[in-house]
Amino acid sequence: MLKKEKAVVVFSGGQDSTTCLFWAIERFAEVEAVTFNYGQRHSLELECAAEIAKELGVKHHVLDMSLLNQLAPNALTRDDIAIEQKEGGLPTTFVDGRNLLFLSFAAVLAKGIGAKHIVTGVCETDFSGYPDCRDVFVKSLNVTLNLSMDYNFVIDTPLMWLNKAETWALADELGAFEFVRERTLTCYNGIKADGCGECPACKLRRKGLEDYVAERGARGAER
Ligand SMILES: [Zn+2]
Repeated sequence: MLKKEKAVVVFSGGQDSTTCLFWAIERFAEVEAVTFNYGQRHSLELECAAEIAKELGVKHHVLDMSLLNQLAPNALTRDDIAIEQKEGGLPTTFVDGRNLLFLSFAAVLAKGIGAKHIVTGVCETDFSGYPDCRDVFVKSLNVTLNLSMDYNFVIDTPLMWLNKAETWALADELGAFEFVRERTLTCYNGIKADGCGECPACKLRRKGLEDYVAERGARGAER
């Protein structure tokens, strides 16, 4: 039913957004990806995204969002600030309004190319305090975007209620488990695939992977 429609995937080259890209390719007639360049700690992130988009035959837009650096210099954009999380506080990777800005720019791009669907890998389950990853925010923004541009966008959030293990399960269902494991970059230290193993992003990714592999093994043994 959705096979006639066109979608734009907000794409970073990481595990979550790559899984979303596979999810969208399966559903929509046409898929394009948009990556935001905001002076990431590692330009490898952008290279990774470009490589994946090319390999999957997806048109790839890279938008310059370096102004984020001007607004909120922090650990995600500046490599001279360490990543840390104070108890009860947001991690230093947080940029206020980042998803608001990204999704708004993605929407302008989407309307311009005739796409109604905007796919994003935001997730409330592993909610680490980012207010603009919450479902209520996405729904509210969806209404705002529709009103602001007089257009019927649908923001799709396939990962919203999944935990990290379930995100691996989804990648596996989409036939993309190995691809996502080997080709994506999640690590804050800029190491592809299984990463450095030490940073918070690697720890979270590995925990999910181990849980999923254990669960899959248990299921296999039952058969
Ligand atoms: Zn790492």
